Amino acid sequence: MGQEDTYRRMKNSQDIHNQWAFSSEDLEDRLALTLSPPSARPRPPPPLLPLPLQPALHQPRPQLQPTKSPEPMISPPPPHHPFYIPTLVTGPPTPTQARQELVPSRPLRTRRNPPKVRRSGNSEVITPPYPWATNHRATVHSLHNLLSMGIHTIFGEVKCKKCEHQYEMEFQLESKFIEVASFIATKKSTMHDRAPREWTHPLLPTCRYCEQVNSAKPIIDRKKKMINWLFLLLGQMLGCCSLEQLKYFCKHTKNHRTGAKDRVLYLTYLGLCKQLDHTGPFDR
Ligand SMILES: [Zn+2]
Repeated sequence: MGQEDTYRRMKNSQDIHNQWAFSSEDLEDRLALTLSPPSARPRPPPPLLPLPLQPALHQPRPQLQPTKSPEPMISPPPPHHPFYIPTLVTGPPTPTQARQELVPSRPLRTRRNPPKVRRSGNSEVITPPYPWATNHRATVHSLHNLLSMGIHTIFGEVKCKKCEHQYEMEFQLESKFIEVASFIATKKSTMHDRAPREWTHPLLPTCRYCEQVNSAKPIIDRKKKMINWLFLLLGQMLGCCSLEQLKYFCKHTKNHRTGAKDRVLYLTYLGLCKQLDHTGPFDR
């Protein structure tokens, strides 16, 4: 109860800030939607890489972006814009390199059948890996939506480090989220944009079978799009992710993703909490 009160109070005190923060982020989102890849504009020559992005850009994002009013065209997007990162679809070369290599030697291949490209494995839109996940990578539904969908419990796989039993465990969505959110509300001012020790060295659950404390380690799917982010958040076990996995989260949720693990871990905690409750004290 006390925790919940703290969280509510923190939320209220940040309301004004958050309204502003939300609207500026909203604007960013809108800009992202209206910024088309160069191939969609009357600009030569159509690069090979941005093509697969078009479906993702124009795909409506349910719940997360209800506003889609048109905005005036802005100057071309910077090359490091997050939407350009997924162009890894076609491999490591940068768009510029690809153009230099491909355009002179194989000019006829600059346009390919878009539907084929859209089906490739690196599309931004995916099949939701869990009922609580959306069809966007590293994105979960808001707490409000989850509760109204009747989802109150989040499941995930763990494996005991001692007896090696592998089993499913569950967290109560609302109470666990309030726990995490209260922790952030109380400690955020002292975190200095870096994950505290509680997050970098998470206390693992006690094993259900051998009762070893700090032993039930979450099993993190090797396929990054299958990672059970909400389960890891509620158990405050995101610190079990590798730096690469955390960077994947940040990359697909438009966060800066450079820096040491404690910084990227911090961004992941805040990013996920913000997905659950965008009015909470989760702005950087
Ligand atoms: Zn055990």
